[in-house]
Amino acid sequence: MCMGELERKYDVKIETTEDKVKFPDELKADLKSQGMMDDKGKLKLKGVSPKMLKRMKQEFVKCPVLKDDIQFVQCFICPNFQSRVMGEVLCKGNPLK
Ligand code: SF4
Repeated sequence: MCMGELERKYDVKIETTEDKVKFPDELKADLKSQGMMDDKGKLKLKGVSPKMLKRMKQEFVKCPVLKDDIQFVQCFICPNFQSRVMGEVLCKGNPLK
């Protein structure tokens, strides 16, 4: 399948903040249940280096579906997330509950 055929609605720019972002409890629980966070609250994403993780934690998107600033890590595990290309998230844009 070529890129042009990927079904997606939005290209969402990834933005960076200097602030240390805190994960909401709900997101933490989600990450833990998917084996992406250990009991100490340390993120474990496959194929993502610690340096990259540190950067990811300071990234966010202005989510067009949830109409809110969403931490990149949350966006990364969102069912609408397709991939990350050149500083943008390719988002399917389906309604989320
Ligand atoms: S993938 Fe999910 S969180 Fe990320 S921009 Fe799309 S709807 Fe929002």
